[in-house]
Amino acid sequence: MSKKYDCIVVGAGPAGSMAGKVLAENGVNVLVLEKDPEVGSPLSCAEAISFSGLTSFVPVDPEWISTQIHKILVVSPSNIRMKLHHPNAGFILNRRLFDKKLAEKAASSGACVKVNAQAIGLLKNKRGNFCGVMVLENGKEKEYEAKVIIGADGVESYVSRWAGMDFSLGLDQIESCAQYLLADVKVESDCVEFHSGQSLAPGGYTWVFPKGDSHANVGIAVTPDLTSKRKAKEYLDGFVQKRFSNFKIIESMMGGVPCFDRNKNLVKENILLVGDAGRVVDSLSGAGIYNALLSGKIAGAVVSQYVRDGKLSVSFLKKYYEELMRAKGRLLRFYSLCRAIFLKMTDEDFDAVILFLKKYLDNQVVTGIEPIPLVKTILRSNPKLLFLLRHLVW
Ligand SMILES: Cc1cc2nc3c(=O)[nH]c(=O)nc-3n(C[C@H](O)[C@H](O)[C@H](O)COP(=O)(O)OP(=O)(O)OC[C@H]3O[C@@H](n4cnc5c(N)ncnc54)[C@H](O)[C@@H]3O)c2cc1C
Repeated sequence: MSKKYDCIVVGAGPAGSMAGKVLAENGVNVLVLEKDPEVGSPLSCAEAISFSGLTSFVPVDPEWISTQIHKILVVSPSNIRMKLHHPNAGFILNRRLFDKKLAEKAASSGACVKVNAQAIGLLKNKRGNFCGVMVLENGKEKEYEAKVIIGADGVESYVSRWAGMDFSLGLDQIESCAQYLLADVKVESDCVEFHSGQSLAPGGYTWVFPKGDSHANVGIAVTPDLTSKRKAKEYLDGFVQKRFSNFKIIESMMGGVPCFDRNKNLVKENILLVGDAGRVVDSLSGAGIYNALLSGKIAGAVVSQYVRDGKLSVSFLKKYYEELMRAKGRLLRFYSLCRAIFLKMTDEDFDAVILFLKKYLDNQVVTGIEPIPLVKTILRSNPKLLFLLRHLVW
């Protein structure tokens, strides 16, 4: 006999552990499956999150913070530099520890968290409805039943494929990333750097995020459609050589960041997708940690209500997508539009935008950045970008 749960969450990244934590706190009998032997490892992430983004979910624990960020440096293709002072802008996490602690919080709230437990398929009952998950657990095949299944299995999500939800990604809908953890580098300990330019990082950007103790996450995101088959790592090597005179590569990682697609629904019958599995990502920056936590939290709350009530029809679960869109839909759609403009910008356009911003913001202290008014101001300042916007919208 297979064991029965109210809900199974596939994946113990930020999205899955947050969903598991909320479900368990609500008394739901939940199983969280993680394919790797250790939560949080291997990791593909630059680990940045805004102060307000993180603190809206969990009290900050200095143990899993690598550095606190108070400054942002933006560098244009022809080296126009703009530095903002933003007290408490955000954090560079120690995500290996952060992910582990979040999974521990789910477990201490009552979730059953299993590592070395890879979902390998969905189970269907005689009526053809999804009713559980097949799992390869420590090398043995097992079956677990559940009323609801949450796919939190990241950018390569198999849950979405097994459920017949089309989440395949075109070459223009993914950012291909490469990153090094560098040691012995000279960086400002509380300043993140962003470098732009279509030859430096076609359809993307490079970043330098200080990790403390002369270490930094140095990475690149590119749009594969625009790279004429050169790999992200080749662009990154060029950038690292140019930016640093001294460095040691102590870790190397690669990964993909999906772009949000407003036309994809994240609920099918009793299957819900959260985090990267559902492409809940800011398409301009590639930021997904906050969105993973947010979507996991909302999914956890909606599924808890569904399970506890016991009489609700499965269509109630659509409330997850509606609530997520109410909370974040406008910004997710806005960043998708910004990305479409961004992909058409030339190096001269980047120079013009950063020069414009420099006039107003260079060395200024800001306490919060509202992205929509800021981008509107930039667009109004630049007739070509305004033209691109009109072209894309109409
Ligand atoms: C190079 C790079 C840099 C990035 N930098 C940032 C950044 O600075 N800030 C930011 O906000 N975002 C960043 N992102 C994006 C961010 O890492 C993701 O958006 C975030 O990790 C999504 O969380 P998640 O829980 O949805 O998925 P993940 O963190 O990918 O977790 C998915 C989990 O599911 C598990 N899993 C997968 N398949 C199965 C299965 N079949 N059975 C069981 N378990 C399974 C995986 O092992 C994994 O633990 C970056 C991404 C990349 C690639």
